[in-house]
Amino acid sequence: MNFKIAAIALLACAAAFGQSPEMAIITRAGEALGGKDKVLAVKTLVIEGSGINPNIGQNPLPESPLLNWNVPEFKRSIDLANGRMRVEQHRIAGFDFALATDVRQNLGLDGSIAFNVNPDGIAQRVGDAVAADRRIEMLGNPVTILRAALDPGAKLSNLRKKGSEQRVDITTAAGDKLTLAVNAKTGLPASVSWMSSSENLGDVINTTSFSNYETVDGLKLPKRYLTTIDFRNWTTADIQVSKNTVDGNIADLAAPATLKASPAPQPQPVSVDAQEVGKGIWWLAGSGNARSILFEFDDHLTLFEVPTSEARSKAVIDKARSVVPSKPLTEVIVSHHHFDHTGGLRTAVADGLVVISHKGNEGIFKEVTSRKATLKPDLLTANGKTLKFRGVDDTLVLKDKSMEVMIYHVKDNTHSPLLLMAYVPRDKILVQGDLIDVGWTQHPWADNYAKNLELRKIDFAKDVPVHGKIQTHAEELAAIAAMKKQ
Ligand SMILES: [Zn+2]
Ligand SMILES: [Zn+2]
Repeated sequence: MNFKIAAIALLACAAAFGQSPEMAIITRAGEALGGKDKVLAVKTLVIEGSGINPNIGQNPLPESPLLNWNVPEFKRSIDLANGRMRVEQHRIAGFDFALATDVRQNLGLDGSIAFNVNPDGIAQRVGDAVAADRRIEMLGNPVTILRAALDPGAKLSNLRKKGSEQRVDITTAAGDKLTLAVNAKTGLPASVSWMSSSENLGDVINTTSFSNYETVDGLKLPKRYLTTIDFRNWTTADIQVSKNTVDGNIADLAAPATLKASPAPQPQPVSVDAQEVGKGIWWLAGSGNARSILFEFDDHLTLFEVPTSEARSKAVIDKARSVVPSKPLTEVIVSHHHFDHTGGLRTAVADGLVVISHKGNEGIFKEVTSRKATLKPDLLTANGKTLKFRGVDDTLVLKDKSMEVMIYHVKDNTHSPLLLMAYVPRDKILVQGDLIDVGWTQHPWADNYAKNLELRKIDFAKDVPVHGKIQTHAEELAAIAAMKKQ
């Protein structure tokens, strides 16, 4: 019997037993894995291997490949009966970084409670948004997704064919919405996808694909899990499995009782305060560790940086307008394309601000601000404005009677070859992000920073930065020297 006839026969059969066509696909996938009863009987799964976690939105150039956190050790333990998961992984940065580059993570989920265990074994509860993400992540597995689909509380809908796959939408008993794709030929689960919301990208479709199935104790399990997003098809995780274990002895994955009793930490409320650092220059700090700088010109205001998120950038824009209510805020200088620095780019465009950045960033800025945000609608999706861009090549001088800001391209910077910094000669104020901060544990760009200060003949009194605190050149040099001694 060929495949087409088999599939039709199966659907006819399903209908005869009062089973929906969607449930027939789920049942067939269960059979392909080793039998529906076998899938329903699995108590625990342990997936061990290695792979990569690419560093999303942090590639050197907008068009460069992403740089990786290498993951030499990866272990995911799942307790299916109790809805618990633990991910233990060792990550080593495959790129220069200002903070720790060798990290061991121990990430827990127990029902609706998410927690992290530090290297000393101390568990700390994390927010509900992380718990929701980990619950979805746990469903990025052929067994867990089928179990969720077979739950009487789940809703199945919208069976359709796409290429060589049959797809079914699943709303789990917990209310999570995912799509399962099944290989129409083999019946094996091919992937699970779901939508999430990004401050930078709006709606994002995430897909975890399963491949290289092997049979372990009569159950078929993938040997590769590849997760991608629908922005440039970026990979967010790629894990090659060295060992699948079914119903092995695993540690108790329950959250510690003290954590269960304590409430989930709430996200820190956004606050922005304005500190005058020169005549007509304010440092807009407050909550978080990504700041903006405000410059007052004769007849308008200019911001430097719209970081992190819409909430942060909206608060920054509002603060700027309240500091100098008599002049319009018309433009923002964006230092580089990295996602922590552009989380408010969509907000700036929605506000009608002209975006000033290195000319090489226009393409990616257009791309990210053309996307829709429906899952968590944002200001840009509501008003549909488009990017107004002013490109910088080597130098751009913004100057009138009140203010002079020199915008310089930072030459030969490996972190971001299109990085911009700003300098106000009158007040000897430097504005930079990602070149130096006295709080860093490593200073990989110190030499490049020194070269660029020399090239531009900058002798600053104060560095008013995007990250960290206001610092003098002497403080920075001392921090670099202290690090070199270690
Ligand atoms: Zn950066
Ligand atoms: Zn940064």
